[in-house]
Amino acid sequence: MRISDNLRVIHVIQILTTLVGKSDAGRIIDTFDKTKNSEILFNFLKIHPVCRELFQEMVRSDGFLPAEKAFFLIKTEAKEHKNSFVKEQMCGKCGHLNEKFDLAQYDFEPAKIPSLRRACINCGHALKAGGFVNSKEIEPWNVTNLFIYGSKIGLFDPAQYLICPWCYQFEEYLTKNIRNTPRICKQCKQPLEMRIDFQLNPDLKSLVRNKSGVWLEWYVWKLLSKSLKPAVEHNRIWKIDGMTVEIDVEIDSIKQPTAILCDTKKDPTFNIENFHLLAKKFKRLALVTTKKKVDEKIVDAAKSSFSGNIILIKGPSIEDLTPNLMRFK
Ligand SMILES: [Zn+2]
Ligand SMILES: [Zn+2]
Repeated sequence: MRISDNLRVIHVIQILTTLVGKSDAGRIIDTFDKTKNSEILFNFLKIHPVCRELFQEMVRSDGFLPAEKAFFLIKTEAKEHKNSFVKEQMCGKCGHLNEKFDLAQYDFEPAKIPSLRRACINCGHALKAGGFVNSKEIEPWNVTNLFIYGSKIGLFDPAQYLICPWCYQFEEYLTKNIRNTPRICKQCKQPLEMRIDFQLNPDLKSLVRNKSGVWLEWYVWKLLSKSLKPAVEHNRIWKIDGMTVEIDVEIDSIKQPTAILCDTKKDPTFNIENFHLLAKKFKRLALVTTKKKVDEKIVDAAKSSFSGNIILIKGPSIEDLTPNLMRFK
């Protein structure tokens, strides 16, 4: 190849991809990331897949989550997906349930968990140390424990109020004087019930406005920045081949430059049309979604654009992204 050909090649590559700048979502993330709350939220989301489910639900409902809804969600996760922060110590021989506890009760800190039984109380069989299984049975107080933990770290604000369970007449939010507040419904004269719902700390609202999934882009970027050596960028807008594309997270590794797209929608709708453009700049594509299913069409399109070099992260397993990416440094 002659020198002039070389220059032409470099020139063409420069035209193909130009950095335009950061998107609005990117600026929201950068501002949020500098706040004290960002560390609180990061630690909470990292603790357990259920925390991410719960948070996503709060985002969807504008930061306010009735306790019943949280209970339903956590119960479903435990039953159907075996994601539970409630643990059981079962006997491997007779199947007897020896202990049951929830991690939220101990602030998710292993050191705070009391030492568990060494032998089965029913048959005396030796129990495996640390041999806990996820419990499928969730009780309302498990949800309360999780919320109390969230309030302790400053993530949630509990909202106590009185409501009539008969006519749903809403009475008032309770501040301090709970004892002197009348407990009879003005409308139907039935006794009122006290309820506690949870709302997100207002300082966190910037990340969840418009029910958007910006939080996931922030979380994935943060998670990777903490664990990977190559530079991790987020929400950059590129012009590739004359077309403008935003890339949620990107890893600038020489061997495997990777584009990561995140989606929190009910039916993930990754922009298939952009895949071939992304493939001009990146060698790998990772799709991250909080949902448990991704349309086969999306997966097929990604595979064909990236010659099969894709990573698909679904549902609770976001942490799997790091080891998957680490395989190529
Ligand atoms: Zn036993
Ligand atoms: Zn009433």
